Amino acid sequence: MKRKSFYALGLAAVVALTPNTAAFAAMQPGIQTEIPVAGPALEEETETAILTDTGDLSKDESSAPEEQPEQVNPEEKMPEDSENQQEQVNLTESENQEEAESLEGQESSQDQEEPENPNDIQEDETDDSQEQPEELKEGWITDEKGRRWQNSDGSFLQNTWKTIEGKNYYFDRNGYMVTGWLQLADGWYYLQKDGSKVISSWVDQCYLDASGRWDTSVIWHTPGWQQNSNGWWWQNRDGSYPASCWQKIDGSWYYFDGSGYMVTGWNLIGASWYYLNGSGQMLTGWQYINGSWYYMDTSGHMTTGWQKVGDTWYYMTAGGQMLTGWQQIGNCWYYLNGSGQMLTGWQYLNGCWYYMNSSGQMLTEWQEIGDSWYYMDGSGRMLTGWQYLNGCWYYMNGSGRMLTGWQQIGGIWYLLNDSGQMLTGWQQIGNIWYYMNSSGHMLTGWQQIGNCWYYMDGSGHMLTGLQTIGGATYYLEDSGAMAANTWKQLNGDWYHFSSGGAMDTNAWIGSYYVDETGAWDPDQEAPDYVWPCPGYTRISSDFGYRKSPTAGASTYHNGIDMAAPQGTEILSCSSGTVIAYGYNSSMGNYVKVRHSSSLVSVYMHMSSFVSGLSTGKTVQAGDVIGYVGSTGISTGPHLHFSIMENGSYINPWNYISKP
Ligand SMILES: [Zn+2]
Repeated sequence: MKRKSFYALGLAAVVALTPNTAAFAAMQPGIQTEIPVAGPALEEETETAILTDTGDLSKDESSAPEEQPEQVNPEEKMPEDSENQQEQVNLTESENQEEAESLEGQESSQDQEEPENPNDIQEDETDDSQEQPEELKEGWITDEKGRRWQNSDGSFLQNTWKTIEGKNYYFDRNGYMVTGWLQLADGWYYLQKDGSKVISSWVDQCYLDASGRWDTSVIWHTPGWQQNSNGWWWQNRDGSYPASCWQKIDGSWYYFDGSGYMVTGWNLIGASWYYLNGSGQMLTGWQYINGSWYYMDTSGHMTTGWQKVGDTWYYMTAGGQMLTGWQQIGNCWYYLNGSGQMLTGWQYLNGCWYYMNSSGQMLTEWQEIGDSWYYMDGSGRMLTGWQYLNGCWYYMNGSGRMLTGWQQIGGIWYLLNDSGQMLTGWQQIGNIWYYMNSSGHMLTGWQQIGNCWYYMDGSGHMLTGLQTIGGATYYLEDSGAMAANTWKQLNGDWYHFSSGGAMDTNAWIGSYYVDETGAWDPDQEAPDYVWPCPGYTRISSDFGYRKSPTAGASTYHNGIDMAAPQGTEILSCSSGTVIAYGYNSSMGNYVKVRHSSSLVSVYMHMSSFVSGLSTGKTVQAGDVIGYVGSTGISTGPHLHFSIMENGSYINPWNYISKP
């Protein structure tokens, strides 16, 4: 049966065109008019194609399809099916002998019209294959006219496609590899400079389909921005446009709505807000929009809540606006500076110190920061100076540090424990006692604490033992309490301490005499002391503290009141000299008698003096010096009897006793 090479007979001659779309635009009525029309530019060296009649072939093929199962449609099979192609090539080669005459006949007739065409190559190949078939190898042969593919029998591929190493080539009727535009009976193809066929791509605004054939139904559109009264949109090359999607154009992302129009401004796309500027470009990073800062991440998402940008935290509202200043977020306060940056650590804001932890949270109440404690009030302000917190006083210095231990503040010493609490009352530090009053002041000097007197030296140390203070000698018990109105045996000798605490010297204490050192001298004979109000021993008010019996009377009773009727005789308690007598508004009629250099007795509220009384008069124990009355500040007739020792009132019971 007759088998013709589909390619040899059916394919069109080759036309090589410059990549000038005008040629195609001119031939294609469906092409858009905006493509400028110009005449086809044929290259001078290009072979002019002669289109052979393919009608016979079509009839042949359609009449006997079953006889040519290997016959394939190049549009469908050529680019993809390399096996089929290989079979065809082999078939063609094997039939070369059979077809040679008709081919050569055709070609030779053409050669006559085109004498420059080298048909001698065909003859040479035929000769070679006949003479030296075993030396020929299949492969590329290159000469000054181009490249050809030589078959193993020495012939060259002609008017046919061949897939070589994955690339699809076409060889013209002279066997040369075609480049550029190629017109075949079934359409136009484009072969790159290396001869390989272009598929599924645009060349010169012509779309080459998956088989490489120009699909004239696909109209070239200039890609780019288009605008109409509804806005901007983007035209793809195939005339379609993006809609409801993102598109990256010239390095920027744009979003096109469902109608394909470019959106601008804020847009909720998917679950995120985006901001597209007036040119439709999606913005990223910090953006100042309508008076607020926003941060769009690298994908353009508007961020909300806490965002760490670089090393800094920022907070954006649910609407994406960057916050500044004090902000309560969750349960905590934060401070975001004017640039929105979350601050940490110590911050001096509006005249106050605040401390934000490493998470930016403003701290309140007690905080240990570094090695020190600080106290921030409920508003986070660091406190300084004295602060009364939870029932205790604390002192924070000017830097806010809580102080401990001894602190001299405003000239006064305070004692603050390890927790910073100001101490009051007695405090023992080491072996030393101190006394802080209710204000925490460390006390010095004589202090009456409770019912006792204490003496703290200039350092606040409580003194004990024998101490000379202000020229007098005192005895301070181990507890620090001052001994008063009592005898103490010290180093084997007895000493007496007056009601004021001062040690007595050169004085009779009752029937005991203390010498110039204060020590009791047992060799001294006791003087007689007479009960000064004979016959009346009821004591209406004793020596010491009392409630004031009447307006103007002292609460400290410096003597003994002996109730007695008006006119009762008053006796000098011991021998001595009258040193004073007369009237005083509080003492009434009084008499003072000196018994020794240190001891004076005093008699008050007399109704009258004994006749002949005079200053300097010597009296003996038991001599009448006056009579009971109620003169001066008095509620009724009685004798007020006092004894002064070295100018101070002492307990008269040291000298007298009831008869
Ligand atoms: Zn009295």
